[in-house]
Amino acid sequence: AVFNFGSINIDHVYSVPHFVQPGETLSSKDYQSILGGKGANQSVALAKAENDVFHVGAIGSSDAAFITQMKSAGVNCAHIREMSDVASGHAIIQVTPDAENSIILFGGANQTLSHDHIATALATAKQGDWVLLQNETNAIADIIDKAHELGLNIAFNPAPMTESVKSLPLQKLSLLVVNEIEAEQLTGFNDIEKMKQALLAAYPSTNFVVTLGKQGAWYINQETSAFCEAFKVKAVDTTAAGDTFIGFFLAAFQRQESAEEALRYASAASALAVTKAGAAPSIPSAKEVHDFLIS
Ligand code: ADP
Repeated sequence: AVFNFGSINIDHVYSVPHFVQPGETLSSKDYQSILGGKGANQSVALAKAENDVFHVGAIGSSDAAFITQMKSAGVNCAHIREMSDVASGHAIIQVTPDAENSIILFGGANQTLSHDHIATALATAKQGDWVLLQNETNAIADIIDKAHELGLNIAFNPAPMTESVKSLPLQKLSLLVVNEIEAEQLTGFNDIEKMKQALLAAYPSTNFVVTLGKQGAWYINQETSAFCEAFKVKAVDTTAAGDTFIGFFLAAFQRQESAEEALRYASAASALAVTKAGAAPSIPSAKEVHDFLIS
């Protein structure tokens, strides 16, 4: 199983003719509230890849209905705490007719993981289980340290990247998944070969996935190097491409599939995700990925 200590965000998406200007009151023609957050997306992707996944996180109690969407995708939500005194993590998103967006993000309940919450969730993990983290919750160093003490495998997706990521105990990770920009920020190099060498030198016992958008994705460790080109699809919305990739990659990786197979599976799933609008709703099922791969 995977214990995903991750964010749950409510994305409030407003369609606007232009971004609101200082002092302006602007009417929106369309409004949707959508389940999002890198954590929730990755849990949904793992569940859709038919992997056991426990989401560990928090949400404002008035938004608890959003958990139903995670449950119906197959995510175990027993470790999601409903908070009566804190707002849910959320994003206020303006989208213009030419598909540009501007986003205000509020961490809210995602920043309230307590020692008790973390310890209670980890107490139910078994040898061989994985802990997955992104950079949208508090207590990341703590969770990495505790999971490592318990001998669990740890995967980390340092997104969105911040300076503080460099001081986390990253040498304890089994798997680090970064996109090109995150790899550049982490290593200081913008050349892919130099990035790979820097990652391997800094964290010798970690496996790495570096995703390169529509170019494809690398998997590297001290012994192996594998690359998978992205599948050619008509891209509609690349939101959650990386989250879908991580969920499907980790599912295949847990099943002990080869690096090449895991990359291919994850690349197919994320290619399908970019053909649909939205975050969690665009993540395909294992069957859709399987059918796409044999078509
Ligand atoms: P992130 O969303 O975290 O920035 P990337 O943009 O690197 O991550 O995308 C992750 C993976 O999704 C890529 O490695 C690729 O396999 C797939 N992907 C992303 N964009 C496209 C696209 N336009 N067409 C096909 N596959 C894509």
